[in-house]
Amino acid sequence: MADAQDNHGGLLFPPIERIQKEAHISSFKQYEDMYKQSIEDPESFWKEIAKQFYWKSEPTGKFFDYNFDSRKGPIFIKWMEGATTNICYNALDRNIDRGLGSKIAFHWEGNNPEDGGHITFNKLYEQVCKFSNVLKSMGLKKGDRVAIYMPMIIELVVALLACARIGVIHSIVFAGFSSESLAERILDASCRAIITSDGVWRGNKLLNLKHIVDEAIIICEKRGHKVERCIVVRHLSPSDEIITEDGDGDCTTEPPAKRPSRQLKIQWSDRDSWWHKLMELQDAVCEPEWMDAEDPLFMLYTSGSTGKPKGVLHTVAGYMLYSATTFKYVFDYQPDDIYWCTADVGWITGHTYVCYGPLNNGATGIIFEGVPFYPDAGRFWQIVDKYKVTKFYTAPTAIRALMKFGDDFVTRHKRTSLKILGTVGEPINPEAWLWYYNVVGNKRCAVVDTFWQTETGGHVITPLPGATVTKPGSATFPFFGIVPALLDEEGKEITEAGKEGYLVFKQPWPGIMRTVFGNHERFETTYFKKFHGYYCTGDGAKKDADGYIWVTGRIDDMVNVSGHLLSTAEIESALVEHAAVSEAAVVSHPHKIKGECTYCFVTLKEGFSFSKDLSVELKNKVREKIGPFAQPDFVQEAPGLPKTRSGKIMRRILRKIAVGDKEVGDISTLADETVIDKLFQLRPADA
Ligand code: ATP
Ligand code: MG
Repeated sequence: MADAQDNHGGLLFPPIERIQKEAHISSFKQYEDMYKQSIEDPESFWKEIAKQFYWKSEPTGKFFDYNFDSRKGPIFIKWMEGATTNICYNALDRNIDRGLGSKIAFHWEGNNPEDGGHITFNKLYEQVCKFSNVLKSMGLKKGDRVAIYMPMIIELVVALLACARIGVIHSIVFAGFSSESLAERILDASCRAIITSDGVWRGNKLLNLKHIVDEAIIICEKRGHKVERCIVVRHLSPSDEIITEDGDGDCTTEPPAKRPSRQLKIQWSDRDSWWHKLMELQDAVCEPEWMDAEDPLFMLYTSGSTGKPKGVLHTVAGYMLYSATTFKYVFDYQPDDIYWCTADVGWITGHTYVCYGPLNNGATGIIFEGVPFYPDAGRFWQIVDKYKVTKFYTAPTAIRALMKFGDDFVTRHKRTSLKILGTVGEPINPEAWLWYYNVVGNKRCAVVDTFWQTETGGHVITPLPGATVTKPGSATFPFFGIVPALLDEEGKEITEAGKEGYLVFKQPWPGIMRTVFGNHERFETTYFKKFHGYYCTGDGAKKDADGYIWVTGRIDDMVNVSGHLLSTAEIESALVEHAAVSEAAVVSHPHKIKGECTYCFVTLKEGFSFSKDLSVELKNKVREKIGPFAQPDFVQEAPGLPKTRSGKIMRRILRKIAVGDKEVGDISTLADETVIDKLFQLRPADA
């Protein structure tokens, strides 16, 4: 059991011995040596890694080439140009060739704890080949775009891999988005076809995905774009009644009156086909399309926390190298691992760490259809015990939400199989980190706080479980090939400890995005115009005296109070240390004298209620923790916070609420719109 060591009042967590013993990288010195090589000689570093993969042909030009400075010409990044390969071939055929055919690729855990199944690499290969042939039979070919709007079921991975196998660019849209948001993404990418399922249960809610897709297709048609084909997986069990209008005669139509609340009505038209019908006719062999290293693999829209989502484009070879390598080292992948990433495949975390990264390592993963609170708040840990999960990866929003329900839901499950606990998506406040470490991990698991973006393809700042001494709240050090820097507003590098700046990267790594789909100019302006010669993340960060990087969140989430630059994340961390607070979101608010002040939204734990006294206590808490200048001017109760569908707090909306401005802007990526009204109603009278 490892206990924290005190480090000038902060906590240090050395690697856990049992993890270190088996780790690929088992000392900080080893990390440092490899890191040094990766940035001084990236070519040899990644060439060595490339040997693990199958290449149909070798690169024809430079191993890598780039321009990060728009004054010198267009921005571009290329790795292994001219080499040909296929990522699906590497994920399936290559693994089967090395004897992993009968290994389980995925366990599937349904929304209902009684629903489950699994698929081996052999079977996955067969399904993917068949579905590749389905897509080909529809005339879909290399370079075409296909939208995928599916629940967390095995067919989702089959669809993704089949696209990759034949060179179709997949654009996965999280199946929680509205028809309008889905339509926008289909239009932006001009998708020729869409793959969906009839419906899905999420917790107690039945969602009619097919209906949402139909609506989206109509919106597209009105705007001049025709989606040619729609493929529908029959996912709901036969007891969930499916009623088709204008039915094609091959689905069950049970009496509607039986269980009206569960009734799912789907419409059918000429462009629709059932997945299982199409599969029946297909060959289980499909020669992969040999792709150029720099051919597009997929596009994916960012979460939209800050504004209109960007269609981030990734290419084949670089993404393959990077997703597999980060997976291997950050989760210290071992052949007997049962690995579970709870992210939906509709987000980048699902692309890289549910699908491509694990599959290319031959790992056994879990695909979970449900939600953390169904049937109760212990579901995650029940699943961990059921499959004996060794590596677990989730988001701070889930950790904070589960904390709120108390420790019992966790401790009633064993969790003895766990070794590594990962987090991603937002800065994790130390309070949540410690709960994850102490309660979930029972002080015997490594916590890896991984910082990265849709744009970076994989982890860029992260601890390595066998090598890094961690500090709660810090993503620690750069991954191989990553050269971070902190810049001030003028673009000068910040070298002093503790000073916050813009987090940028100086040189490309294989997994970095190549463009914004159809809009290279937006790519250049968003990431490369602010500081010439650097990729700009848009996030703020600081380095402490030991060189640890602390990502503080989006740079526009900074407040300037009487000349003190503060990140709202720091204030949030102080607030959630209070026993009554489960979640906090802080934004800047105009102030006559100070210029800006802070306005705090707090969600309380079960059993606590909001009062004037509590508000005073919370203000004092921040004052004590950070300093008198940081004392918030306003604290308001927030029964819920506006979040993206991936669970991130949308502070730009909170800024509007804080000033009482009803023009909140684009809310298409918001998970629950009703919270906005509630928050307007709860504004303090003096705000
Ligand atoms: P948009 O770019 O459309 O506003 P988004 O940035 O939320 O949306 P993602 O690419 O899903 O879309 O998220 C990446 C962002 O998430 C990072 O830029 C950072 O702000 C935050 N983030 C992710 N992981 C961490 C982490 N471990 N620590 C701190 N912040 C993190
Ligand atoms: Mg972003």
